[in-house]
Amino acid sequence: MQRCKECYEPFLYKELFLSGLTGYKPISCVKCNKKHTVTLSSRISSSLLIVAFPMSLSMYLLKDLIQINPVVIYLCIVIPTLFILPFVLRYKLEQNHKRG
Ligand SMILES: [Zn+2]
Repeated sequence: MQRCKECYEPFLYKELFLSGLTGYKPISCVKCNKKHTVTLSSRISSSLLIVAFPMSLSMYLLKDLIQINPVVIYLCIVIPTLFILPFVLRYKLEQNHKRG
């Protein structure tokens, strides 16, 4: 599990999971209260994981399982994938200065 960049307090799985679900919301360390934001590269890899990968897999499975709605297949792949997100997302300390 990832840790706070400031005090090395580990983040809670629940916090990271909710952050992923709410569009990469920044999280604060429970101990030192420093804000952490999701890095751009991990946003890209997570979107590949929850969009591109299940989409292509459901399209591929569709060839053999025509009677099942592709949306159902997609959700069956995406829902378990969401639980892996906390391990995929990488956090960095938020910059001190707020931008425009
Ligand atoms: Zn901390």
